Amino acid sequence: MDLSPLLDSLNDAQRQAVAAPLKPTLVLAGAGSGKTRVLTHRVAWLVQVENVSPHSILAVTFTNKAAGEMRSRIEAMLSLPAAPLWVGTFHGIAHRLLRMHWREAGLPQAFQILDAEDQQRSVRKLIKSLNLDEARWVPKEVTWFINAQKDEGLRPKHLKADGDPTREQLIRLYAAYQESSDRAGVIDFAELLLRVYELWRDNPDLAAHYRARFRHVLVDEFQDTNTVQYKWLREVTGSTGIPFVVGDDDQSIYGWRGAKIENLHQFRRDYPDVQMFRLEQNYRSTGNILAAANGLIAQNSGRLGKNLWTSGEKGEPVRLYSAYNERDEANFVVERIREWTSKGGNRRDCAILYRSNAQSRAFEEAMLAARMPYRVYGGLRYFERAEIKDALAYLRLMFNRADDASFERVVNLPTRGIGNKTLDTVRDYARANACPLWQAAGATLTQLGVKAGTSLHAFLALIERLDKETQGLALHEQVDRVIEQSGVIAHHQKEKGERGEARVENLEELVSAARGFDTEETGDMSPLAAFLSHAVLESGEGQADQWEDSVQMMTLHSAKGLEFPLVFLCGLEEGLFPHQRSATDPARLEEERRLCYVGLTRAMQKLYLTYAEQRRLHGVDSYGSPSRFIRELPAETLEEVRPRIQVSRPVFVPRKPMMEEEPVAGVKLGQRVRHGKFGDGIVLELEGQGSHARVHVNFERQGAKWLMLAYANLEPL
Ligand code: ATP
Ligand code: MG
Repeated sequence: MDLSPLLDSLNDAQRQAVAAPLKPTLVLAGAGSGKTRVLTHRVAWLVQVENVSPHSILAVTFTNKAAGEMRSRIEAMLSLPAAPLWVGTFHGIAHRLLRMHWREAGLPQAFQILDAEDQQRSVRKLIKSLNLDEARWVPKEVTWFINAQKDEGLRPKHLKADGDPTREQLIRLYAAYQESSDRAGVIDFAELLLRVYELWRDNPDLAAHYRARFRHVLVDEFQDTNTVQYKWLREVTGSTGIPFVVGDDDQSIYGWRGAKIENLHQFRRDYPDVQMFRLEQNYRSTGNILAAANGLIAQNSGRLGKNLWTSGEKGEPVRLYSAYNERDEANFVVERIREWTSKGGNRRDCAILYRSNAQSRAFEEAMLAARMPYRVYGGLRYFERAEIKDALAYLRLMFNRADDASFERVVNLPTRGIGNKTLDTVRDYARANACPLWQAAGATLTQLGVKAGTSLHAFLALIERLDKETQGLALHEQVDRVIEQSGVIAHHQKEKGERGEARVENLEELVSAARGFDTEETGDMSPLAAFLSHAVLESGEGQADQWEDSVQMMTLHSAKGLEFPLVFLCGLEEGLFPHQRSATDPARLEEERRLCYVGLTRAMQKLYLTYAEQRRLHGVDSYGSPSRFIRELPAETLEEVRPRIQVSRPVFVPRKPMMEEEPVAGVKLGQRVRHGKFGDGIVLELEGQGSHARVHVNFERQGAKWLMLAYANLEPL
């Protein structure tokens, strides 16, 4: 066979997989062994060597980020645009197919997609409209049930209650939800996949067309396919298509969403002539990182088993940092990244990984304070929604008239007859006089036509009035007043259909968010100012642009398939990771362990693990112990960054010049102190200094606790 230069950069095992005969293929291999590399090379091989038309290739992967990377790698190898090639996520491809075949799929042409939040809202509405008790029929759980059925390829008519009244009600809710979604012409994520499966199943001609077309179907991260995705694969390959799937049973992390490791076995049964390849050499990580990961995953039972090795250097030990709290953890990470960049490293090569989205918050705050560009990867968040941004823009402008971006956003929203021509006059004036748009608007009023001038004047007056009239009101009253009087609510009430309703509900939720906003910790800031900066963080507006060199932040789930020279795996505490829900269920615990394995194996050169002794998450303090996963790592691969300070000493250390941090005065051994949450107690020990100073207090009601002096706000009594 022609030894194409395509194969030069591969090892023997990889080469065999890439150049394998055109038969169903399964590549089963550990992290970083080149599965994705093999898959992309296989595509190039098919086109260049086997003369397969790019038209007949369908390549599927899990995240948009991975799909984008795959596309560009293939384009580079083939030195042609990969346009005729279908590369995408299961959802993306399903969407594309449904747009093309909406009629056959029984959808209106303009069908809309519901994201996870929209879906839950719609379920909640349904529950309300049926007069069911929301406490008993929790919208989130009902949504979960519906999606789980869809992931299994099941419609209400396939389900049996078997005399279980709860299940019976859930099935009824599923049916009602589906009816109302169909009527409204909206489809949720799980529906996308199920619809395409049904589309092919129920339209044999169409299925035959796609079977003839997509002879080659390649799937990355195969271990995380769910039942309906697998059925889909079976439909499109039929008896003639040639699947090429790659995966790693140790990285299956979507069991909670219906993914089935068993699909790996099923695949071997369904394609009896399958050819199997194993890759065992890891090219990504240093010896230490790999040994740590191997040691961890060895604790799982029922693995297919593999022996992953590297010929690379042993590298540095994996570093473990025990932080006092989440802020200390974040500062530690920021300092390490500073070190990295000061030695010439790129920020984009640093990744901060965590179990739950809410953890990003402390890191974002630390990076904003350190002016370190960062990006958080994840779904559309509440504060990113357009209507919420509109409402916030009003609030911002009230707070700060010089906020030009907010001015631009709402000056003509809702429409009040302020056109682009008027705005151009204002913008020109602002530019010429280097002043904010607000000021320019005031100054140009007389130069404008009567109509435009009146409209603009009314807008300025509105903001002034809102500001004046809401002074002294509680935060949520302020917000309520603003969304009413600005006309934003009325604007969306006029909008027809689901979208408009959803927007109005979202705006109403903003009032609740303001009511629930913890103004306790705002310090000198006014509650409104604190709320606005909270919203900036929540909306990710502090984030760097896509092209800027920035630190990468994401959940462990979204890190799948990616790699970074420097990785921080954070929040390794019992209850957080492994997640509380999983601690008592052995199967779920193993899934958490695989998730940890995924995290460890993202690291190429340096890996830090961190945990916090005290953590505030969702406004609640918790005191977790270090995650069991830390104990499960081979000790010889680990090194503690800062062994505990052994000496206790008073914190009245002489103040160091140039140090920002002052020792917290007024607290000494034996002193009685008062804490906002824990009440009164006596200081038993003091240790560390500056921002690291800690205090051990025996509280009368809560017992002894270690606290960070800088954050504890202890009041000497
Ligand atoms: P994961 O399980 O995390 O998805 P993977 O098995 O898909 O990992 P890849 O991402 O394809 O692994 O490869 C891991 C890294 O090793 C990449 O940087 C890749 O370029 C590199 N690599 C893979 N094979 C080779 C090789 N033969 N020579 C040099 N580098 C390689
Ligand atoms: Mg991969």
